Amino acid sequence: MSTPVSGRRFADRVAIVTGAAGGIGSATAERLAQEGATVVLVDLSENVRHTADAIRQAGGNAEPAVVDLTDPAACSALAEDVIAQHRQIDVLVNNAGINRRGALLDLDLDAWKTSFEVNLDALFHLCRAVLPAMIERRRGAIVNTASQWGLHPAPGHIAYNVTKAGVVSFTHSLARDYAPHGIRVNAVCPGEVRTPMLEAGLARSGRTIDDLNALVPFGRIGEPSEVAALIAFLASDEAPYLCGSAVEITGAQAVS
Ligand code: NAD
Repeated sequence: MSTPVSGRRFADRVAIVTGAAGGIGSATAERLAQEGATVVLVDLSENVRHTADAIRQAGGNAEPAVVDLTDPAACSALAEDVIAQHRQIDVLVNNAGINRRGALLDLDLDAWKTSFEVNLDALFHLCRAVLPAMIERRRGAIVNTASQWGLHPAPGHIAYNVTKAGVVSFTHSLARDYAPHGIRVNAVCPGEVRTPMLEAGLARSGRTIDDLNALVPFGRIGEPSEVAALIAFLASDEAPYLCGSAVEITGAQAVS
């Protein structure tokens, strides 16, 4: 299922999208490129090269960057490379994430720490690397992918819930501190979205997509392109006064 694209809101804009080999990240990179952005697709996975190739073959401007976002030096180098090559960063989408499932006694310390490193610390590293260039131009939009579970914790996912709550608070804090510099920071809080992350969870639980669809008042779980459309809106000039918001996109599903 694809979401209609009508405009070119990102012509002459440069965007960094993390987690761009994954479901929501690749859809977001595609969406921004379709609307005219030059997109730097960042991921730990080499598959990000294929995603960038596909976007280029469709006529978009896309560059892959294989980066481990838990490495502060790699995040700095990424931002420096993009500035050196393009002289600007207009949009940063902090979307990479992991879901280490389990209640407290199911998790070891490594799973807890890794969840923080990927889901939250990476935002610290990359925002610190990118913000100075945005502040200098007095413009920039940052969109963080949190989760509905960061607002309403789901059972059996404590590390994920807590780190995503941190992403929401990070978003509010960053927005308050840097709105005076012309930077807008917002978060998206998706419910269930049909991506490799969700499919991995289904494989473990034995449930099916149809089982999940039946739980959503709208009749189905979300598609990556639908979250990408919201991210693109928040990153665009169509949302000039949206700053410090955490927007839920759930098909009206409540966390149970
Ligand atoms: P996904 O697993 O398809 O994509 C996540 C991507 O992040 C992967 O490509 C992975 O390689 C990358 N990544 C992980 N660790 C990294 C690291 N250290 N450095 C660089 N890249 C790294 O999952 P998705 O569902 O597309 O998730 C995207 C975002 O959406 C995540 O933050 C996730 O928590 C959030 N989210 C997803 C859902 C859902 O139902 N799928 C719901 C709410 C929020």
